Amino acid sequence: MDTIYLDHNATTPVDPKVVEKMIPYFTGEFGNPSSAHKKGYEASKAIEIARAEFAKLIGADPSEIIFTSGGTEADNIAIRGVYFKLAPEKNHIITTKIEHPAVLQTVQYLEKHHGAEVTYLDVDTGGRINLDDLISSITEKTALVTIMTANNEVGTIQPIEEIGKICAEKGVLFHTDAVQAAGKMPFDVNKLGISLAAFSAHKFYGPKGVGALYIKKGVRLDPQTTGGGQEKKFRPGTLNTPGIVGMGEAARLARENLDSHTEHVKGLRDYFVSRLKEEIPHLVFHGDPKHQLPQVASVGFSFVEGESTLMFLDMDGNIQASSGSACSAGDLHASHVLLAMGVSHASANGTIRFSFGKDNTKEQVDKVMEVLPPIITRLRKMSPLAPKEE
Ligand code: PLP
Repeated sequence: MDTIYLDHNATTPVDPKVVEKMIPYFTGEFGNPSSAHKKGYEASKAIEIARAEFAKLIGADPSEIIFTSGGTEADNIAIRGVYFKLAPEKNHIITTKIEHPAVLQTVQYLEKHHGAEVTYLDVDTGGRINLDDLISSITEKTALVTIMTANNEVGTIQPIEEIGKICAEKGVLFHTDAVQAAGKMPFDVNKLGISLAAFSAHKFYGPKGVGALYIKKGVRLDPQTTGGGQEKKFRPGTLNTPGIVGMGEAARLARENLDSHTEHVKGLRDYFVSRLKEEIPHLVFHGDPKHQLPQVASVGFSFVEGESTLMFLDMDGNIQASSGSACSAGDLHASHVLLAMGVSHASANGTIRFSFGKDNTKEQVDKVMEVLPPIITRLRKMSPLAPKEE
């Protein structure tokens, strides 16, 4: 039975073209990019090509990009970097209740151990913040606004351009976790008024363990790691040449294929959602349909446990999806994102996130729709809460 992988928000397979570009940097071109000889120069040249490619994907200048080990590290360098530069004079951070743990736990750490005052903005039932709440939260003590571009669990896209304008008018730095946005939607740092943004290659068909931080020219950070001085001292340590080369190629492909990728995954998602609505009763669709990543369907199956649905999908159909954020896999607490959107614990626990990718097909959706409805019927039969006709 072939695998049907519908968990692309957790991670994507590396594009074979990306792998091809990476291989020489594991073998012949193994030089340390900091070395002052031919091998070093070849590696360093490849890194600068990748930097330019990635910068192009997000409308930045290559000098504004530093490579990191992923999205989590980029978020940490940005948030801690701004905070330790500006505190204690400015010790206020504004964020939302639905951030990824890479942001949420970082601000919570600063709150608990370093005197940060944090405002956690509420979101509406679709998962979007209210701009008036943001405006009224900003004070002369505000060091940073950190609001994700698109949510990993429900795909909701925030009004980033408006947030950027507000922050610019108030003279406050604006960081966005854009890990789920890059390669999935148009994203231009200048148009969006962003000071700092975090990215991760494995979310757009690049390798794991490599990411980037955009730092707008003129934005000053306190470096969080000490060492050899690479990446303008913000991420010292020998650079991951193959990974960075892979990220550059993945960025080039993402830019070239953005429209066709969007159309493909949106087509599959919409087809899947329309079949679900016709064939399975008692569903709730989470997220804001007008402002949602094209590849995501977050579906609440009432009266069933998401973990059981996932297990049967995997066992009966070799279908892989997620019951929430992969990063909190194994954590059976209801999703903090869904709870913040006003979803009940029971409903949140019955939710499955399906996220489509470039290699999925309509036939795979048909296969899922053969396997999924009987699973839900079976689980509901065992549920004392489900209506009798189930
Ligand atoms: N931010 C968001 C929104 C994510 O979805 C993820 C990964 O799931 C991360 C940050 C962490 O990225 P990485 O796995 O590259 O550390």
